[in-house]
Amino acid sequence: MNANTNSKFDLKVFSKTVGWSYRESLPDNLNPQLSAGIPIQFMKRYGIVPICNQNDEFIVAAISKPKQLDALDVLADYYELPIEIVIMPNDLVADLIQQLAENRRASSQKLLQDSLENESIHQVLDQIQDVLITDSDHPFIIRFTNSMLAEAIESGASDIHLEPDRTGMRIRFRIDGMMQDRANASSHTSELIASRIKVMAKMDVSNRIHPQDGSLTITVGKSPRDLRISSVPTPFGERVVIRILGRAEQHTDLLKLGMSDEMVEKIDTILSQNEGFLLVAGPTGSGKTTTLYAALHRIDCNTRNTMTIEDPVEYHVPGVSHVEVGQNRNISFGDGLRSILRQDPDIIMVGEIRDGDTAGTALRAALTGHMILSTIHTHDPAGAVIRLLDLGVDAALIAETLTAVIDQRLIRLLCPHCKQLIDDQNHYSPAGCIHCDHTGYKGRRALFRFIGIDQSLRSAIRNRDHDKIEQLVTCHCDEQLKKHANLLIEKGLTSLSESQRILQG
Ligand SMILES: [Zn+2]
Repeated sequence: MNANTNSKFDLKVFSKTVGWSYRESLPDNLNPQLSAGIPIQFMKRYGIVPICNQNDEFIVAAISKPKQLDALDVLADYYELPIEIVIMPNDLVADLIQQLAENRRASSQKLLQDSLENESIHQVLDQIQDVLITDSDHPFIIRFTNSMLAEAIESGASDIHLEPDRTGMRIRFRIDGMMQDRANASSHTSELIASRIKVMAKMDVSNRIHPQDGSLTITVGKSPRDLRISSVPTPFGERVVIRILGRAEQHTDLLKLGMSDEMVEKIDTILSQNEGFLLVAGPTGSGKTTTLYAALHRIDCNTRNTMTIEDPVEYHVPGVSHVEVGQNRNISFGDGLRSILRQDPDIIMVGEIRDGDTAGTALRAALTGHMILSTIHTHDPAGAVIRLLDLGVDAALIAETLTAVIDQRLIRLLCPHCKQLIDDQNHYSPAGCIHCDHTGYKGRRALFRFIGIDQSLRSAIRNRDHDKIEQLVTCHCDEQLKKHANLLIEKGLTSLSESQRILQG
């Protein structure tokens, strides 16, 4: 017994302790399972390690800093048992904690594997509620985050939204374009989950007041998937959105996306030309980029130098040079485009036309021996042309170079497992089952309309005649979407109500 320690340490202060002793060697009855719910950081900070449970009568804990009353109270409350204290030298306690940390790292690898296989986020969340967790590296938080990512990828989600509010955090997935509630976490847990995501994406965990971006790659099954993370502060905590980028093999065929043979032929003709400008229009999440990728797959990259400028690079197409621009890299689309024009490209895909600078540079490139493919955010095909004019690009330049506009929407397909026949004309309505998360729909198909820019449209553009542009484009293609949607209804692939939702939107 050490007299010095004894004199500093008044046992009567602790109501939750049952006695104490002093030892200078490692205990041989350490039970690593006992401390599984206690964060390593907590043990390090207070120099305390729960060692064993004595017949459910008391917990034996090693401690190097016997003045940590709060920590002893926390342990006693956590185990709902009094604590017997073993005072040990600093370095021995540190060794014990180190040993536990290594055990945990090994077992969290195992847990990671397990959670990627079959553990629903609800199961993990339920377990988290029972455990005292203060750090985002805790195996439960790691397990929860991994399960959430795996569940989202397996259900085909394009985004995960972590939305803090007054009471905690709502976790929603976007599947086939629609938001779906998945789980609710407590405020305390939600902060740790957000931190865990930020750690994985190499973002600044200590900074919770500025918006941040990050990225990471996760492997589920055999294929690696790229994730893009964005965090934004809100009064209730950080709102985190995880975008799950697509798998390259899903996006290689225009016909499989839903394009008709006739339209694919027109695209091929355009792509075979040496210069021009092909613009894909549609609202956010309508699959514009996917269409461009499928178009890139139709180009013979061995004979033509094909480059892309994207924010972010979503998939890698063999033979194509991808360049990433954006806030993270401090390069705009316009800057990126100017620099790759010096790399002697034949075909350039510009991820999106967002500003006048990019639009002007892209159109001038199209005029000087380059085939340019790009997307623009609009709600109707005439809007794409008008948007270019509104961005301040010279009308004559647009009229001269714009080759065609593809306008597209994504329509949800009925779940083949549960769709219900409602009449004798092969019309089905959605029902809902486990295969479709009870939504009645599974997967989407693109609806396209194609607007070739002809002489009359060119002159309307040159004259900046919005009404005429509207009239010509509408007359060119208004029926195309409807016809295409009706075809899918007749085949029993989608429902009347889904078609109405898309056509009105
Ligand atoms: Zn179903």
